[in-house]
Amino acid sequence: MHADRRRAPALREGRGSGENALVPLHRRPESPRPEAPDIAELTELRVAQPDLASAIDLQIELLRLERRVRPRLPLPTLTFDVGRVTDAIRNGRPLLRFDDLTLNWSDFRFVFRSVAELMRRHDALDEADYRRTEALGREAHRLEPLVVQWFVTGVDPGAANPPPDLAGLEPVIQLAMRPFLSRAAEALATIDAAEWTRGCCPLCGGEPEFATITPAAERLLICSRCTSRWRFDPIACPFCDNAERDRITSFASRDGRYRIYACDQCLRYLKAYDGRHASRPVMLAVDTIATLPLDAAAMQRGYRG
Ligand SMILES: [Zn+2]
Ligand SMILES: [Zn+2]
Repeated sequence: MHADRRRAPALREGRGSGENALVPLHRRPESPRPEAPDIAELTELRVAQPDLASAIDLQIELLRLERRVRPRLPLPTLTFDVGRVTDAIRNGRPLLRFDDLTLNWSDFRFVFRSVAELMRRHDALDEADYRRTEALGREAHRLEPLVVQWFVTGVDPGAANPPPDLAGLEPVIQLAMRPFLSRAAEALATIDAAEWTRGCCPLCGGEPEFATITPAAERLLICSRCTSRWRFDPIACPFCDNAERDRITSFASRDGRYRIYACDQCLRYLKAYDGRHASRPVMLAVDTIATLPLDAAAMQRGYRG
């Protein structure tokens, strides 16, 4: 008699209420499983830095949501011909077009609603904005063009003006799109972007969210949308291309684990994990949270993220 439940659509919400509302029916919350390394690190960080608890709890729930959703997404059917890839990379045009994603809108709406609910629960989204996401989640004809606009403004700034509907909701859309975009990035991992020199992502056009310094002292930027990584000048500002060293302020965290590169031209900054003497590789989900105190320090100096 439970056969119907097992065949329930993968991303359909549970019929339960309250805390379990987002747990799909066929996945028992009690199933004991070793935690992923980044969730284990976040749990340790929570003990070491209790003032980050709320941000950490949200991050853990977002990771769990992404991991529940991602394996069920079909790999995008992207068959780029070599010509299109070479052409795009050489001309500094991000490779991915929205249609390449073949996004399943009902899957997206599920993730969008789930992200908004998690953000509200952890005080990362105020009630008014949450209500807006609820309304959008019900109105496909408004939500879908908004997501497309959000994507296009990253790929080709100036091609579209972000509609007023979008203001304040970008973080929800960005987090909700992450499983879909990172899945696409996975499918495109073999693409050679060595010739790419721009500060935005060669795949999706997103801005870098973080960086990592490799043991060979190269700097890789990490996309805020699809989490792809690409090599970039070790010092230059990826937001405005300022490469004058005396107009880039760089400072390290006290333990030397992290760095900030702040641009004195556009006043934006980028955080980085210094992997030169580190015991583990960068973990985007952990390191963006562990460096929240650095954001405060950068903002105090008049920079913005
Ligand atoms: Zn990207
Ligand atoms: Zn700059």
